Amino acid sequence: MTKVNEGVFFIQGQDEFIPDSHVYVIGDPGSNDLSIVDVGLTGKGNYKIQSIKKLGIEMEAVKRIIMTHTHLDHIGCLSEIRKVIPNAELWVHRLEAEPLEKGDDRGVYGMNEFKGMCQMQYGLKSDAFKFKVDKKLEGGESLDIGGMNWEVIHIPGHSMGGIALYHSSLKILIPGDVVYADYAIGRYDLHGANADQLKKSLYRLADLEVDILLPGHNQIVKGLPPDYVRKTAKMWEPYLV
Ligand SMILES: [Zn+2]
Ligand SMILES: [Zn+2]
Repeated sequence: MTKVNEGVFFIQGQDEFIPDSHVYVIGDPGSNDLSIVDVGLTGKGNYKIQSIKKLGIEMEAVKRIIMTHTHLDHIGCLSEIRKVIPNAELWVHRLEAEPLEKGDDRGVYGMNEFKGMCQMQYGLKSDAFKFKVDKKLEGGESLDIGGMNWEVIHIPGHSMGGIALYHSSLKILIPGDVVYADYAIGRYDLHGANADQLKKSLYRLADLEVDILLPGHNQIVKGLPPDYVRKTAKMWEPYLV
C-alpha cells in the first residue's frame, strides 16, 4: 500500500487463481469524507481493510464505495467490507446498478461456467450480489468528494456500465479494466462487453491528459508517456470490431 499522491492511496490486489482488483482510496484524509474505488475479489475483504488501516486511515472516514464496474474481482468482497462500514454508500453506473438491484448477477460473473465455479469455490449463495445502489452514475458528473474533484466518464466495452474517474489538475486516471500498463486493455468477451464500444471508450480516454494511470490490475504508472492511451487504442483497433 502506498500513497500515490496527496489524497490518492493505492492498495495492490492480492491475486490468487482468480485476480483480485487493486483498491484506491481517494480524498483528503483530513476531510473525513473518503471514497474507496473498487473493493476486490471475494475473500479479500480483510486484507483490504487491514491495508487501509495500515495507511493510517480509519474505516469510519470512508463514506462511499465507488465501483469502476461490477465484475467479481472488483465487487466480490463488498459484503465483507460493508460489515465494517455498513453506512457507506454504494455508487455504481446505472447500467450495472439496475441489474445489481434486481439480483441479476450475469454481469458480475461474466459467464455461466465461471458462476458455477465461483459459487462452489467461495460458497456463494444465489443472491450474493443483490445490492441496493445509493447513487446511480451516468457519466458526465463532476464529483466534489473528500476535498477533491473527480470527473465520471462512462467507458463501456469491457462491461456495460464501466466508468473512469479522472482528476484533471493532477492528471490522474482510474480507468478500471479498460486500459492497463504495457499497452494492455481489458477483455471484451464477457457478458455485457462490446468490442466497438471498448474502442470508442479507449479513444474517449485518449483525449485526456494523463500523467498517472491507476488501473484495476497490474502495475500503476507515474509519468505516463504522452499519447499512451491513443497508442494503445491504435494498436488494438484492428481487433476491436
Ligand atoms: Zn473487469
Ligand atoms: Zn478486473
